Amino acid sequence: MMGSGGVIVMNDEKCMVNVAKFFMDFCVEESCGKCSPCRIGLKQMLEILERITAGYGREGDIEELQRLGDSISKLSLCGLGQTAPNPVLSTIRYFRDEYEAHIRDKSCSTKVCLDLMHFDIDKERCIGCSLCARKCPVTCITGSREEKYTIHQVECVKCGNCFDVCPVKAIDKIPGIHPETAAHRANLAKAAHNHDD
Ligand code: SF4
Ligand code: SF4
Ligand code: SF4
Repeated sequence: MMGSGGVIVMNDEKCMVNVAKFFMDFCVEESCGKCSPCRIGLKQMLEILERITAGYGREGDIEELQRLGDSISKLSLCGLGQTAPNPVLSTIRYFRDEYEAHIRDKSCSTKVCLDLMHFDIDKERCIGCSLCARKCPVTCITGSREEKYTIHQVECVKCGNCFDVCPVKAIDKIPGIHPETAAHRANLAKAAHNHDD
């Protein structure tokens, strides 16, 4: 995968897009900057991966990563730049469906990419103990013993405290952006667009 003879064994709880981003981040740090394909191209690849894992992936991103990766491999001066795109190119080759789910469905099936998953409370299982609300650092869980508890999705910072402390496992980690958050993001994008006009 790394193109340097190393083999890494991972289970299916790892997000391959996130793994590719991790290696790219490392290579950007390691690049000496002498040649522009490596210095500039790797940063461009990293920016695309960061956008995809943050939920802002666009149609054409996979092809752009492949185009950049191929060029950087061919044009870089030393082995670092020549092999740096390999984790991205090989994960696209073998796990393309994961990239597509991140970009098109805004969903990370492994729930590793926090911007592409959400926590939610199952009111059938919730016993109204309030522990999650008391442990939430941004006080975005409200409710009562009678009405049970609710997470206000837009404010949630995905710290996972609620998930960890719930005594009856009433909180689920769910792949995908919650509709409330998606609507909020769409409104922000619309407002930014109107402001630019
Ligand atoms: S490919 Fe090698 S020489 Fe070129 S910037 Fe990267 S590390 Fe430096
Ligand atoms: S994940 Fe953290 S921020 Fe989000 S609701 Fe749970 S405790 Fe609050
Ligand atoms: S910690 Fe669990 S049981 Fe208690 S209020 Fe929160 S979701 Fe309900």
